[in-house]
Order: sequence, then structure tokens, then C-alpha cells
Amino acid sequence: MENHYMAHELIEKIKDKEIKIEEIIQEYLDIIKETDGSVNSFTHLHEKDALKKAKRLDDQINKGKHIGKLSGLPIGIKGCICIKDSPTTCCSRILEGFNPPYNATVADRLLEKEDAICIGRTNMDEFAMGGSTETSCYGPTRNPWDLERVAGGSSGGSGSCIATGQSAFGLGSDTGGSIRSPASYCGVVGLKPTYGRVSRYGLISYANSLEQIGPMAKCVKDCALLLQIIAGHDELDSTTVKLDVDDYWSHLNDSIENKVIAIPKEFFGEGVDNTVKEKVDKSISILEGLGAKIKEVSFPHLEYTIPTYYLIAMSEASSNLARFDGLRHGEMIDELKGDVFDVFSRTRGERFGMEVRRRIMLGSYALSAGYYDMFYIKALKVRTLIINDFKKVFKTCDAIACPTMPTTAFKLGELLDDPLQMYLMDVLTCPANLAGLPALSMPCGFDNKGLPIGFQLIGNYFDEKTILNIGFLLEQELNIYTKFPSLKGVR
Ligand code: GLN
Repeated sequence: MENHYMAHELIEKIKDKEIKIEEIIQEYLDIIKETDGSVNSFTHLHEKDALKKAKRLDDQINKGKHIGKLSGLPIGIKGCICIKDSPTTCCSRILEGFNPPYNATVADRLLEKEDAICIGRTNMDEFAMGGSTETSCYGPTRNPWDLERVAGGSSGGSGSCIATGQSAFGLGSDTGGSIRSPASYCGVVGLKPTYGRVSRYGLISYANSLEQIGPMAKCVKDCALLLQIIAGHDELDSTTVKLDVDDYWSHLNDSIENKVIAIPKEFFGEGVDNTVKEKVDKSISILEGLGAKIKEVSFPHLEYTIPTYYLIAMSEASSNLARFDGLRHGEMIDELKGDVFDVFSRTRGERFGMEVRRRIMLGSYALSAGYYDMFYIKALKVRTLIINDFKKVFKTCDAIACPTMPTTAFKLGELLDDPLQMYLMDVLTCPANLAGLPALSMPCGFDNKGLPIGFQLIGNYFDEKTILNIGFLLEQELNIYTKFPSLKGVR
């Protein structure tokens, strides 16, 4: 079997009984065994359960029984999304040994209703705080295109498992770019949906007003397929919206003639690599060639994105993570000495990593009496200005095109000691989270080191259909999927 088939192609082969699900799962497991010692996409494998489910689904097919739309294809699911009886640790020592008694809504929809197979839990930055998957308690994920570089983050494991051919799909969460950063660095497609489009029930919160779970896949069509299944109202999450979900596949091939694509000049400013700009510009010209109208626009508040995002994210994090004290949630340290505050602080001090502790402290500071107005409230006000920048653009435009990340993947360890520099990498992804808009990242070329470059399309509220449509047509023109990482020295 060739594991670089697209997921939708494999689904057809399974339907036509050309290939058995068990063979597919075995092949993916073999690839994981061969490569994961080098890339570290997975923290836990579900080998036995995956093969068992594959056999059961093959049986159902043989008996002519119905099976779900994802017909037994493997998916790598990020470690912060609850799956019943599966280690869900957020890659933090504090949650070691936590096997949730219930499924997140997205897991129910994918695994129970549509018969995808969770092949394993993917690596991530601890509690999704980071942009490189280096703060995981299980060690970093490496970039399959260059093992000395980061895979992006925080959903680095989900990005690299697709690029490495270890899984057909991945599921990530995106608070400030965590789906799009690894999609960009690993050369895969990832989509952060509109806030309220996909249920967060069962997602362990980092910053709840910013994050969404979203699909990651090898191509736009597979990404659309996955989104179709997870999108929609959920009575278990009151922030999901009761709005019909578009039929994404049926619009992929729509003409984009006369669609207006906005180019915000600030998104191509200082700090964005020339090669990145060049490849993104080339893709914009391709879209123009397909009949789209290109319009330069201005986004005056981009420079405030990073402080605004980090103040809000850290404030929410300090509150969301208060429950992990060893008593209500999380593992208590062995020795119980002193009063309750000693126990809490020792448990939290020992079991949370450095970056998580930094953020809890900064967030608590920003929310404390006396500083609340100066930091948190001010950040909320600037968030509104950023939302207004977008609203103005979407009055006359259908989508925004820009780079996903300012650069290609950096070296492991390069930014670990310089958190501010690491935070600055999110400047082009955070705006969509602050506004709650949908955003897609897809590969649009390679730099001179052979590292993938991400192209970002930001859409209007609940208009995932348009960015998938534009992305799909661009992907056909770029014909980029002839190239996959060779994993030098591994295979
Ligand atoms: N890099 C950003 C952060 O560290 C985004 C993380 C995310 O989207 N979960 O907060």
C-alpha cells in the first residue's frame, strides 16, 4: 500500500473492497513504528484497539452492513481532547494517568458515529501553551522535513503525523495558531473554524474565548470532510451556534470569479521572510488568474495583536488551570505534608512545566485588583479594535490572504530561552482567534532549504465554505502533493 493516498481516495478503495481496513491500519502502525522514534508525533498508541475496531469494521463491510463516512481511517487526536479511557494528559505531568470517563463531542462524532479509528494521542505543548511542541513533558516533536527543526505547535504531533504518513487525519486545537502553525511548518492543511462552529465540550481549556478544535489533513478536500463531521450545534456546549452547516464538498469547485480577496499590507511587513512573501504572492497571482479580484487593504491594529492576545490568553489560562491542584483535578504529589496551601503549591510547582507556570503567574497578575483595568480590560478594548479592522475589510471582501507564519520552521531549542521571540511568531495567526474568524493554512511552496511555506486564508464568520473553496482551487493549480518528506536517515 502507498500511504500517501489522500484520505478520500482510501475511503473509495475501502468501499470498492479493493483494500481491507485492517491492512490500512497495520500499514500506518508499521510506519509509526519505523518513524516515531525520530519524529515523536505520538505520546500514546492505540494499537490493539485500533486493530480490533478495524477487524470489526471489515466484518461489517463483508456482511453488507452500513459503516460510517470515515470508514475506519486512522486519526491522530491531540492530547487535550478527551477520549473515553484514553490517556488525555495535555502533555503535562499534572494530568499523568488521567483517562477520561467520557468522550469529547468531536470524538463521539468522529469515532462513534462515523467510524474513524483513533490510532493514537498526539504530542503537544503542555496545555497547548507554545508554538513549537517543545514544552511537552514527553519531549519535542521533530519536523519530518528536517529533524533538527520544530514541527510547530502546539498541535505539532497532529501536524507531523500527517506529514510523516503515520495517520490519514489529525485533530488539533487552535487558541492562537496551534493548528495553523504546525500545518504551515509540516506542509499539511489545517483549519481553525469560526468560534462557535465546533463543540469544545471535552476540550481541556487553555483560553476558552479564543480556541476551537479543528481538522488537519493532507489536502483541502480531506480537511473539508473532517470539518463537515465535527461542525454544528452541540447542546453540551452553549457557545456553539444553531446555524446550518454548509455542504463544504459541494462548493469546493465553485468558480471564484469576481470574489474579492483582501491583502492586508501589514501582514507582509517587517519580520516576514522574503521567500515566504514571494511564495504567498505567487499564490495570490494564481488566484487572480482564476478570476478573483485582489484588493489591498489596511489592518491598522495588527501591531497590538501580540500583547492583546497574550494578556487575554494568560488571564483565561490562570483561571482555567486553577482547578489542577491535585485535589479537584490532577495527580497530588505523594507526600501530604503541611496545610492545603502547601499541598496545592507543591503539587502545582512540581507538576506544571516552566512555561505553564510563567503564564499562570502573568495571568493572575493581569487579573489582580489594581491591575485589572490597566491590563485585562484594556486588552479587551483593543480586541474590539482588531475585530473592527476585520469587519471593515469584510464589508467589501470575501476572504483575506496572507502568510500563516512569518518564517519557515526554526531549529529546535532556538527560541526556547526567548519566550518573547517565540510569542512574536504568532503575529499572523492570533488576529483570527481574537476576532473568532475561520482561518485555513495550506502549503504553497518551499524555501531554499526545502522547508514548507504556509498560505493563510481568513474567512468571514461561519464562511468556512469560501476559504475551503479558494484553497481547493489554489491547491489544484499548485499541484504540490507530489512532494513528501523523505525522512533522511529514518527510512
Ligand atoms: N502559540 C500560541 C500560544 O502559545 C498559540 C497556542 C495555541 O493556539 N494553543 O499561546
